[in-house]
Amino acid sequence: MEMEKEISAIVTDAENAVRAVDVKDVETLPHRVDDLKAKYFGKNSEINNIYRLMKDVAPVDRPAFGKLVNDAKRQIEDRILSFQASCDELVLRFRLSAEQIDITLPGRGAVKGALHPLTLTRNLLTDYFISLGFEVTDGPEIETDYYNFEALNTPADHPARDAQDTFYIEGGEGKFLLRSQTSAAQIRVMENKKPPIKMISPGRVYRADEVDATHSPVFHQLEGLVVDKGITMCDLKGILDALAKRLFGESVKTRFRPSFFPFTEPSVEVDASCVKCGGAGCKACRGAGWIEVLGAGMVNRAVLRNCGIDPAVYSGFAFGVGIDRITNLLYGINDMRVLFENDVRFLKQFR
Ligand SMILES: [Zn+2]
Repeated sequence: MEMEKEISAIVTDAENAVRAVDVKDVETLPHRVDDLKAKYFGKNSEINNIYRLMKDVAPVDRPAFGKLVNDAKRQIEDRILSFQASCDELVLRFRLSAEQIDITLPGRGAVKGALHPLTLTRNLLTDYFISLGFEVTDGPEIETDYYNFEALNTPADHPARDAQDTFYIEGGEGKFLLRSQTSAAQIRVMENKKPPIKMISPGRVYRADEVDATHSPVFHQLEGLVVDKGITMCDLKGILDALAKRLFGESVKTRFRPSFFPFTEPSVEVDASCVKCGGAGCKACRGAGWIEVLGAGMVNRAVLRNCGIDPAVYSGFAFGVGIDRITNLLYGINDMRVLFENDVRFLKQFR
């Protein structure tokens, strides 16, 4: 009974949230509809949290409970999607009238293009690694489960493999997917090349996230890998510390925190001292004085073995940099949607 009340409260709450949207501010309407979607049927929505309570429900009551939640979920989705459709219509009409062409006006000069901020950051990163003798390689965006997970030591029951997080390709029998990390490219290089290996691989990656200020179903990573005799954690620290200085200035400090990734052992998360406050603590770093920049680690021996490289002879390190994240830090961008919307007013600032 309690649960029923809670579920119907969520439905009412969603309904109220839809009604509360001010449709007069047409320009920001698409963003606000995205936010609604993320809140009410994103991965961490309240209704999904209720699903998780299923295990506490007596088995005999589960079918009825499941139906109740499903019905509520469908009701919310239908409401928000039909609201979105009417908003799309509004936005379209607004744009059509705003972009109406007055043929009596004199012509406008063509706007000169510029490199996209993501391209600028990717170039900054690749130029740095090329100067250190790294090779740039490319990998396919449609990957197999083997390259994206299995060869990277990610077990079959790992949460990242969940269809909620990864885009599997229909009809691919779970074998094909849109790569969720550029790390997949490492394996292809190690299979085809014997050490010494020094490579980076920048590119697009995909995860099943609802769009909001900090999430996008497509984003960009740059993967790096070094394998040779006698490679140690010191090499990793040296290169990444120098990278942070190249990106954020000579006075930047780095720190390495223990972390976990299936394909590296030990794994670290690398923070840079906050560029804005120099480590004293400010709004940009949420008072911490440090900003998380990338993940890295020593290549797991199992991964080397999977690729036919003898871990008794060779060792290596790998790192993955979020290109979008670095772009946001470099240019003070706090809503990553602007990176994908191709609004000329935003883009021309980078000329
Ligand atoms: Zn700060």
